[in-house]
Amino acid sequence: MKYTGPTYRPPYEANSLLLQVTAGCTHNKCTFCTMYKDIKFSIESLEQIEKDLKEAQAFCGDVKRVFLVNGDAFVLSANRLKPIAELIIQHFPNVEVITMYASINNIKSKTDKELEELRDLRINDLWIGTETGHEQTLEYLNKGFSLRDSYEQLERLNKAGVRHIDILIFGGAGKGKGIENAIANAKLINASKSLGVSITTMGAFGESRLAEDVEKGIFVPATELEVLEEQKKMIELIDVETIYLGIHGINTVTFDAQLPKDREKAIELVDTAISKMDDDFLNSVPERHSI
Ligand code: SF4
Repeated sequence: MKYTGPTYRPPYEANSLLLQVTAGCTHNKCTFCTMYKDIKFSIESLEQIEKDLKEAQAFCGDVKRVFLVNGDAFVLSANRLKPIAELIIQHFPNVEVITMYASINNIKSKTDKELEELRDLRINDLWIGTETGHEQTLEYLNKGFSLRDSYEQLERLNKAGVRHIDILIFGGAGKGKGIENAIANAKLINASKSLGVSITTMGAFGESRLAEDVEKGIFVPATELEVLEEQKKMIELIDVETIYLGIHGINTVTFDAQLPKDREKAIELVDTAISKMDDDFLNSVPERHSI
């Protein structure tokens, strides 16, 4: 299988076939992200994709789920994604879901009809880099789209019948703004009718602009306690059915939950964790290494 540079996938795609269709990320400008800093964006050829699929056929057995890498693979036009999906179905007829990371802008660039056609070719369960429902924070994170875009484009996915998992960052708003962020995030999730909400936690590392801003005092990170209070508040306020996907290694208290059904249990887990941590840790900003 061909993989160019670092390859990332959500923890929940650990059993999916990882198929490279792009290298790097077209945006590559998010304030906190260094994942593809040194990788020039490129598109994989159909010939190579077919070669990889043949190789995978030899050792993967009955593939049910394929994750297309890399950073914003849904940037590919519908005209490029359709033959890729057809090739996957040809080699793995029992594949149920072809998924990938997607930016809000990648949805915007496709028509409603194209979204439906892609869904018919089993492209679904998109992992959307929404990051926050808090306008000011979204602007700082430099995602290249507005909060209004998030609301509109997630609704377009719903109308096209494309399921999505919305990624959010606890601590994304910085010190003193965790509850504000939690309220805004819950509002977005309550409106977005997502299959799931995938949680990560803000970490300033590497040569990111965020790390520079922390160094200069422009961005003051939230303490551990603030992050955990934010976690609780968001769980409290989500009142639509969605799966809380929180097992990412960057989070301090990790669990999955079915919301709102498991709300009390989830809040109790966070409270128990807080009660076991000493004050020094709760008032610190733990070093986080990778997203
Ligand atoms: S967070 Fe996603 S969209 Fe932003 S630079 Fe990193 S890979 Fe690209």
